[in-house]
Amino acid sequence: MAYQYDLIVIGGGPGGYVPAIRAAKEGLRTAVVEQDALGGTCLNRGCIPTKTLLHTAELYEAMQHCEGIGIHAEGVSLSMETLKARKEQVTDELRKGIEASFKKLKITQLRGTGTIVSAHEVLIDGKECCSAEHILIAAGSRPGRVPIPGLELPGILDSDRLLERAEAPFAHLIIIGGGVIGLEFASLYQALGSKVTVLEAMDRLLGNLDREFGQSMKMLLKKRGADVHTSASVQKIEKDGSLFTCTFAEKEQVQTVTGDGVLVAVGRKPCTEGLFAEGVQVEMERGRIVVNKQFQTSVPSIYAVGDVIGGIQLAHMASAEGLHAVAHMTGKTAEVRLDLIPSCVYTNPELASVGITADEAKKQGVPAKSVKYPMSANGKSVLSNQERGFIKVVYREEDHRVLGAQLMCARATDLVSFFTAAIANELTVEDLRKTMFPHPTFSEGIGEALGLVE
Ligand code: NAD
Repeated sequence: MAYQYDLIVIGGGPGGYVPAIRAAKEGLRTAVVEQDALGGTCLNRGCIPTKTLLHTAELYEAMQHCEGIGIHAEGVSLSMETLKARKEQVTDELRKGIEASFKKLKITQLRGTGTIVSAHEVLIDGKECCSAEHILIAAGSRPGRVPIPGLELPGILDSDRLLERAEAPFAHLIIIGGGVIGLEFASLYQALGSKVTVLEAMDRLLGNLDREFGQSMKMLLKKRGADVHTSASVQKIEKDGSLFTCTFAEKEQVQTVTGDGVLVAVGRKPCTEGLFAEGVQVEMERGRIVVNKQFQTSVPSIYAVGDVIGGIQLAHMASAEGLHAVAHMTGKTAEVRLDLIPSCVYTNPELASVGITADEAKKQGVPAKSVKYPMSANGKSVLSNQERGFIKVVYREEDHRVLGAQLMCARATDLVSFFTAAIANELTVEDLRKTMFPHPTFSEGIGEALGLVE
């Protein structure tokens, strides 16, 4: 049968546009269906806008405390209008970059909502039907909700809605959820001058990451004036005028907190509603699409990647999975490893980790050791007034092969790639010690940490 396209991708986020570009480069006639703006959550409502705001917030905060470094700044003020415009300018610029790549590679943009009506057909907005040998679903996720009475009150925000705001920062922002989104916004709003309260259900912040990250961030947020409650179960939210009051129980003690903003950041849900027409069924499990190792669904011509398949919800993971799916379609082997996922949190200081932690090594029964270098001894950190942080390296006891690294310091999110490359190539601590680190840099901390291994 002759199809119109070799590949139709549903979703124009990083799980969609990255594999679409690769597919087109491989010579596949490719189309991308997107109902909103190209770039998906990452570019329009996630990574890029939050980090644009954070960049301004960090400069703003630095300006408030710059006397000690020889700058006298008076009358520094924040324009949320300009900041919103700047955020839009950044996303526009990057979106235009994707559009230009699509044009150059002759990738067709199908604007509208795609519904899969058969193993090889996608209906756009219920009108135009397009066919392809392969379909790749990369429809992403949206903010999840939890059943807390009062959560539907007008003015309670999720991360999408918070990013649309152009009003002055809150006097007091209450954040429900102390995961990645919760803490990035806590850091951001603290820098913008808001009082912040974090209410987290688990006994620690950033439950999926190294325990020390959560502990250190709790300490730092508190030092900067935040209230952080772990093991806190939110019972209800009430509204009086423009103020919200959250009632929560922390270790069975019922307390309340009142603020003028509430952010709910309790995880994200796969976007699968309306993806399949009646009669088309792929295997699903608790709202996510089930795939095999090649990212094929139970219908082999339909692939799915990224947040719709659950697991690790990260832009770079979705892109890497998409590249693997395209490689399978074209009979090639994708190079990027899927079992080695760098995780980055854009708080102040940044957090990053890759591979396994010392605790995970223990749980897995891998004889491992770890070293930790405090960045308070790193020249670049001292001269640039950074918060205290560390670089930890986990290595196998028998042959010193590097197994993981956890970094809490300035530029941690860039530095982590050194370790990703090391682990991907099965290098040992001694291999890495051949590296000369330029002085003075944050990266010298890596050399110092490696030097601690006996
Ligand atoms: P998350 O899973 O990281 O954190 C959600 C937190 O909310 C958890 O700690 C959970 O225990 C808590 N929680 C759940 N119900 C609660 C309740 N009723 N009361 C209090 N706390 C409650 O999810 P997220 O922060 O919403 O982020 C969603 C996804 O997006 C994650 O997979 C995250 O990795 C990804 N993300 C990544 C980045 C990044 O890599 N920098 C940035 C943003 C989002």
